[in-house]
Amino acid sequence: MAHAILSPSSIHRIIRCPYSAKPNAEAPSTSSLPAAKGTAIHEMCETLLKDRLEGINLSDYYLGKTIELEGYSFEITKDDIFTVEVYVDYIKNRTEELNGKLLIEEKVYANEIHDDLWGTADAVILGENNRMVVADLKSGAWPVNVILNEQLMSYAIACLSRYGNENTVLELTVVQPNKRAFHKDGFIRTWDIQAIDLIDWAENILKPACDEAMGDKPNAHAGDWCKFCVLKQNNTCETYKTYSGGNDE
Ligand code: SF4
Repeated sequence: MAHAILSPSSIHRIIRCPYSAKPNAEAPSTSSLPAAKGTAIHEMCETLLKDRLEGINLSDYYLGKTIELEGYSFEITKDDIFTVEVYVDYIKNRTEELNGKLLIEEKVYANEIHDDLWGTADAVILGENNRMVVADLKSGAWPVNVILNEQLMSYAIACLSRYGNENTVLELTVVQPNKRAFHKDGFIRTWDIQAIDLIDWAENILKPACDEAMGDKPNAHAGDWCKFCVLKQNNTCETYKTYSGGNDE
């Protein structure tokens, strides 16, 4: 599947280093065992949320099953089942609480910010009282914060322009039921942001970075965000080579 040049999953890095957007988007796509497992877990969630198991219990259907995906082969474990169940239960319950409409694996486009900024939000709930939930399932072991989470904020600005208005409250949500990804706020973290504040961030931080990234002379800035940049990995970034905070472990 094609990926956006300004992918929300990379936007934290792109905001800080606009130069990194194009080379990373043009690099051959690679996977890893955790990434392949993450894809499988997302597919299981979608299957369960869309009631496609036809009455078969999730464990009965998936536990111990060998999955071949993205060049890797692995078994679905109890922990994987747990991750799916926590996420699906939360999304279903929150949809009911908000008397909302649930959109699953929703393609969202932030054209007002830039035509190349788009992605797939794991779940969007259009709730009553002008509340919109934008949720992201994280299956990895690296704990992810929800406050000022720029990936979720990018999905949210795209959702806002399509489904919301200036009075919408966006409830950003990270669900990360990985027992190795300890976070003081638990498996499920939420953070509210008002539409007006999200728009302010999008116009003053996100849009200038996107315009620079897609322009003729984007600047490079090194920092913690270099970690997964392809130019750091192939040792071809001159800016990173002079970065004193770099740690080529
Ligand atoms: S290695 Fe760092 S400084 Fe260089 S392009 Fe990538 S993100 Fe930017």
